[in-house]
Amino acid sequence: MLSITDARSSDLPDFSLFDCIVVGAGFAGSVIARELAERSGKRVAVIEQRGHIGGNAYDELDENGVLVHRYGPHIFHTGSQRVYEYLSRYTEWYDYAHEVLADIHGAYTPVPFNLNSIEQHFDGHKAAALIDRLVERFGMNTKVPIIELRAQKDPLLSELADFVYQNVFLYYTQKQWGLAPEEVDPTVTARVPVLVGRDNRYFQDAYQGMPRAGYTPLFERLLDYPGIEVFVNLDAAEVLEFVAPDAGSDTPFAQTRASGAAFVGEVVYTGPLDFLCKKRFGLLPYRSLEFVYEPHDCKHVLPCGTVNYTVSEDYTRITEYTWLTGQDISHTTLMKEYPLAFEDKPGQVPYYAILDDKNRQHYERYLGLFASLPNFHALGRLAEYRYFNMDQIVERALELADSLCVG
Ligand code: FAD
Ligand code: UDP
Repeated sequence: MLSITDARSSDLPDFSLFDCIVVGAGFAGSVIARELAERSGKRVAVIEQRGHIGGNAYDELDENGVLVHRYGPHIFHTGSQRVYEYLSRYTEWYDYAHEVLADIHGAYTPVPFNLNSIEQHFDGHKAAALIDRLVERFGMNTKVPIIELRAQKDPLLSELADFVYQNVFLYYTQKQWGLAPEEVDPTVTARVPVLVGRDNRYFQDAYQGMPRAGYTPLFERLLDYPGIEVFVNLDAAEVLEFVAPDAGSDTPFAQTRASGAAFVGEVVYTGPLDFLCKKRFGLLPYRSLEFVYEPHDCKHVLPCGTVNYTVSEDYTRITEYTWLTGQDISHTTLMKEYPLAFEDKPGQVPYYAILDDKNRQHYERYLGLFASLPNFHALGRLAEYRYFNMDQIVERALELADSLCVG
């Protein structure tokens, strides 16, 4: 039986009854909790500050009965057979391949920008010449980051690069990050390359789909195992304490305490490290989002799951959830995403780490505080201050379990 206790209406957990503590009930926390319990018979306390499990993948029915993702659209895709088979133990799949159209001055254009997109925006001869040159230079079915395309000296490729940069990347990236594309970490824009091919799907991974009944039931099954107890509405900062031998600001912690008593079991932390350390070195830089929902009394409004607004509007994209989930219902709900700086205001969520060397060093300083605690593990998109997709997080959690559950 799934055990979830609301910490607002009950006593704090008695940690002496547990072997391990996991902070966060997203993919990182839920997978590692399950593995520690199932592979090693550990008793695991999962602490979640929100009132629900699922982390940022949490979904629920809105007031019109439409299944929506409360923390942004989550589309599952992976090249990892291990991850796909693992999650398939906890869900069946709705066969969905995500397609995104960019609204370029009213013209709906496939993104990643591909050979079909070229033919839509350039006349016949020019399009044929651009395609020939692209294939000649990079080969068919290759992916070319916009930064790499812009570095090409060939005049034809430069013309294409300028078009894609101006119409797909520049304004969207300015909205999303408050920076120009060349100022963000190259791995970020490389997530959406120019595709030398005709595949209109957003992802080319071997395994793609959506949990048939939604993400939240997947998490309910993951966490439903003897020995796992979930405590929601409980901030780890209220119960966990890390004690250093002296008052030096960079002195590594030497002891973990849970509800005031020493805790020697494994602690897996999947939230932001700066918050766990009471921001002693200042806030790590993050971007946040605001979501605005729009109900409609019809089956579909958009032509596909997501439209990216790459040259207009203040929001970056609109997602229509019924496309993603395949839900057969007479209503629909759109969701617009408005990016903004994370300023640690009430209700704001730090969704994206802002990747650069300086921020990475800032993060490493926090991580250094835990260097002398071999039982402490920072795992997950926030805890590792990285830009991980769900499948990468599941893979990392399974790998951590491989190392912790030996013997
Ligand atoms: P989270 O899901 O963030 O879980 C961490 C949990 O820890 C949260 O529930 C949080 O409340 C809890 N927590 C934090 N601090 C504390 C504390 N002090 N005490 C108690 N609990 C705490 N990935 C994809 O593969 N496909 C997509 O389409 C996709 N779309 C995305 C869209 C958006 C807008 C965003 C922001 C991300 C998207 N991702 C997507 C990435 C995906 O959200 C992450 O890979 C995944 O959620 C990471 O899991 P996690 O467990 O590391 O973190
Ligand atoms: N991007 C862009 N235009 C687009 C799509 C993406 O400029 O139409 C850039 C932008 O900088 C974005 C990054 O590529 O932050 C990664 O896009 P992705 O769709 O992977 O972002 P996520 O879904 O993770 O927010």
